[in-house]
Amino acid sequence: MSYTQSVSLALACSTRRLRAVLRPLALALGVLGLAAAGAQAQVRERVLDEQSFVLGNTLKVLLHEVGHALVDLWALPVLGREEDAADAFSVIYLLDTIESDADLSTEQMEQLDDALFVSAVSWLAFAEENDLEDTTLFADEHSLDMQRFFSHMCLLVGRNEDLYADWFVDFDIEDEALDIERCEELAVAQSEDWRYLLEVERDQSWKDQGKAGIKIDIDRGKTKQHRRYEAWLKDWAWLPYLEARLERDLKLPETLNMRFTDCDEANAFYDPETREVIMCYELMEVFEDLLEY
Ligand SMILES: [Zn+2]
Repeated sequence: MSYTQSVSLALACSTRRLRAVLRPLALALGVLGLAAAGAQAQVRERVLDEQSFVLGNTLKVLLHEVGHALVDLWALPVLGREEDAADAFSVIYLLDTIESDADLSTEQMEQLDDALFVSAVSWLAFAEENDLEDTTLFADEHSLDMQRFFSHMCLLVGRNEDLYADWFVDFDIEDEALDIERCEELAVAQSEDWRYLLEVERDQSWKDQGKAGIKIDIDRGKTKQHRRYEAWLKDWAWLPYLEARLERDLKLPETLNMRFTDCDEANAFYDPETREVIMCYELMEVFEDLLEY
């Protein structure tokens, strides 16, 4: 069985599922208190505008796809769902960055924290639309969106209870829903496993291949909306930051491209043939639509 095939199959998010999330968002966002603009301040001290919401989700998705890229480029064995491993990588990498980069300003740390928050909002919103009568969801390469939401929350609270336990209130989660001690054990184990892999594989790549880079391309959007995202991305300081940090942390055996482009579907994926992470403008549109309810 080839890794690359399973990777490419595992990555395709279903457009149907993404489109389908749009309808019930009023409910999900109502739960969060986001439906009314005036209620936003109750949810977070910082009110997130649509640009922060879309780009925060984009950052989180990019790192999820980098997780898939690492599995492919380093031929990592994945015991269990690769999607779960990629989800965990994206959260751990963001938390490690917040904790380890002493040069980050408070505002920058808040922006990374916001990415973790808006990602949780989106999981919950997507989960509201899951049709649990649809048994194909259970055999999907992805865990259920509600499981992805709780795994995300468990990792956060497991890593830093003081900081993230408040989110239980924001998301209207009963205290019993997450066993914090178990989350701590999981968060420590998952974080250590990813760090171990990063260290071992990075050193191996460095020795064998030398340093390869991260290359970011922002394509011209075909629609006015997509050109708006294109402008946001060209102006977004986290892309050059990510480029430099990933290059330093990963020392990949081959250059990894990240491309923002029109795809005719709402998707993000890693293409093992071209060693490219693709983020579709259409997926950014789905995130923005979440806020329009
Ligand atoms: Zn994935």
